Amino acid sequence: MSFPTVRMRRLRRTESLRAMLSQVQIQPSSLIYPIFVDETITEPVPIVTMQGYFRYPLDQVIGEGKAALEQGVKSVLLFGIPAEKNETGSGAYTKNGVVQKAARKLKDEFKEKLVIIGDVCLCEYTNHGHCGVINKEGEVQNDETLELLGKTAVSQVESGVDIVAPSAMMDGQIFAIREFLDEAGFEQTPILAYSAKYASAFYGPFREAAESTPKFGNRRSYQMSQGSVHEALREIELDINEGADMIMVKPALAYLDIISLAKASFDVPIVAYNVSGEYSMVKAAALNGWIDEKSVVQEILTGIKRAGADLIITYHAKDVKNWLK
Ligand SMILES: [Zn+2]
Repeated sequence: MSFPTVRMRRLRRTESLRAMLSQVQIQPSSLIYPIFVDETITEPVPIVTMQGYFRYPLDQVIGEGKAALEQGVKSVLLFGIPAEKNETGSGAYTKNGVVQKAARKLKDEFKEKLVIIGDVCLCEYTNHGHCGVINKEGEVQNDETLELLGKTAVSQVESGVDIVAPSAMMDGQIFAIREFLDEAGFEQTPILAYSAKYASAFYGPFREAAESTPKFGNRRSYQMSQGSVHEALREIELDINEGADMIMVKPALAYLDIISLAKASFDVPIVAYNVSGEYSMVKAAALNGWIDEKSVVQEILTGIKRAGADLIITYHAKDVKNWLK
């Protein structure tokens, strides 16, 4: 059957009909709000490259947790900016690290109401800015890094982190972290693996926010190349086999096909990271009056969800509740 019997516009006629038939909706509870906690500041500091976004001092993280919950967002992802950095990134796994302190505050205040996710990596804590320990030649050492990532995960969970999210792209990191957590009695703590993490220019604004730009070289020897497809599926499969409970594709917008393939291939929750560059482009265009920010953000998040993401980490998380249709 076709026109004139079939008329596709019949079901698009009114706002209610369109809403009723929409297959993809964004709920604030499926968004994750990233917080940059900086132990070197006493007032929030605007992040120039991410308009409207701030680094927060430790004593304001509770305010940010509250702000998220008020918007229906149930989860935060913590990144730390430590007072000191060193060769091995020990600020990542010390009991009094910045993320550990922030997690303790949030857990004390919100108990189970707020899900605290800890980013597990070393790049914010190493003086060279790489995600693992390096040898004399400046190469990132995979196996030596695993133990430090395991220690980081355990110390975060001891401090109140509910889900650990390893982002270093070291081989075997999920298995190592699972072992460390189980050994420490945290067999109930889920792992959200940054499985398909591409080396991307879209991370630029974040690096300013987290002060984690590598001092030399780049991350291409451990993050994925933009043209890879099968490799992403292999990374995801390996992480699931190593014990990942949820997997992530990062960035989101230039990798919607990967999200979609992951959804079709694996029965685990898929998380997409709507990264800083994606956020900053929207903000910059909106500031210039070139786009309508609310509509564009809604459309971007819907697109990421439609591609197959169950959860979305986004810098827009706190803003969107009143915009969602
Ligand atoms: Zn890193």
